[in-house]
Amino acid sequence: MSPGQGRRPRVVVAGGSIAGLGAGVALHRAGIDVDLFERDPSTLRSTGAGLVIQPELTALVQVPGGPGLPITRCVGRRTLEPDGSASPLQAMPQTFTSWQAVHSVLLRQFPAERYHAGAVVGEAAPHGDGLTIPIAGFGTVEADVLIAGDGGRSAIRRRMLPELEAGYAGYVAWRGTIREADMPRDLVAVFDDVFTFADARSGGHALAYFIPGDDLGTGPGERRMNWVWYVGASPRERDALLVDRDGQQREASLQRGMAREDVVAAFPAFAAAELHPAFAQLVAATPDPFLQTIVDLGVPQSVFGRTALIGDAAFIVRPHTAGGAAKAARDALAIADQLRRTDIGIDAALAAFQRDQLAYGRDLLAYGIALGRRWARL
Ligand SMILES: Cc1cc2nc3c(=O)[nH]c(=O)nc-3n(C[C@H](O)[C@H](O)[C@H](O)COP(=O)(O)OP(=O)(O)OC[C@H]3O[C@@H](n4cnc5c(N)ncnc54)[C@H](O)[C@@H]3O)c2cc1C
Repeated sequence: MSPGQGRRPRVVVAGGSIAGLGAGVALHRAGIDVDLFERDPSTLRSTGAGLVIQPELTALVQVPGGPGLPITRCVGRRTLEPDGSASPLQAMPQTFTSWQAVHSVLLRQFPAERYHAGAVVGEAAPHGDGLTIPIAGFGTVEADVLIAGDGGRSAIRRRMLPELEAGYAGYVAWRGTIREADMPRDLVAVFDDVFTFADARSGGHALAYFIPGDDLGTGPGERRMNWVWYVGASPRERDALLVDRDGQQREASLQRGMAREDVVAAFPAFAAAELHPAFAQLVAATPDPFLQTIVDLGVPQSVFGRTALIGDAAFIVRPHTAGGAAKAARDALAIADQLRRTDIGIDAALAAFQRDQLAYGRDLLAYGIALGRRWARL
């Protein structure tokens, strides 16, 4: 009998975002003994913005009789041009949600006593067939498997693959959300029911759609408007943008409230010069825009002994795919499906997970790069 065959493993998950919490939920549903450790001390997090809903995300989050996922809808797409013109509405219904909505629905499906906030997973060491895992803020735990859902800058991946670096795509995404109640009525009317795209004068584009609001309300007046604007930036320009309000050089992103005052102050004029007037008005009205650099990353291997990388820890794909959260959900469901098997043993289950994940991740990564070439025009 191979190690773990005939019994279900004990699992530790690092990270409580979509990949990690999703894996926790899927493993718990499969009857597997799982504890989750999240670095952030609070479970009430409002870091995220909008997500285009894909079937994999629905498959993870929506279970019969479970809490419903708050969603917003559009009837179609329209493109706004910098000269003030607009394309005809193209019928294409889609649904949207927010990171916060997904997180809160998943959190309600995971046992509170198994979610450990303010706990940082450290370097695991082999111990018998399994692992000993030091967790700052908690103690040391033993497990058969460590699932690393610790994000695009995963320390666990860096220990396994120290030479692997994310490749900068040559542009950044400025992002923002604004309460619908804080938007002028005529501006709400421009964006209502529509997935709006906006071409920018010097290349690149922006997009906007409504998402659930702060209390996850989806009715008129309760929502938030979510926008993303892809802007070309040389590595030097990117690094300058990533110097935060306190003069600290950040590596990959600026959270809300971190962008420097001079950069934010220049934003309305920049938007007015580049975008359709309505989109420029939206950008100018949004408090605290935040920044994400666009990078590509794919691992050659995602399982290292009893440690498995999932979500953005394994593959970071361009947001044009609208596939990052769906990929995280897919990984979460797939690893739980493999680990619930008692017929093949833990190592064979992890190997099967890795085969499928690498094939899917590589395809999505390549697709995102191709979309970036076609759409971003930067
Ligand atoms: C501009 C932009 C737009 C996007 N739009 C979409 C979209 O429309 N649709 C979509 O599907 N996706 C979208 N994405 C991608 C999506 O947000 C991510 O792919 C998805 O959230 C999966 O993330 P994750 O759970 O793997 O990692 P993350 O969300 O980065 O979470 C990692 C978690 O691990 C925790 N952590 C880190 N280290 C440790 C440690 N040592 N111990 C414990 N905890 C730790 C962190 O605190 C964090 O909570 C977009 C991304 C960008 C940049």
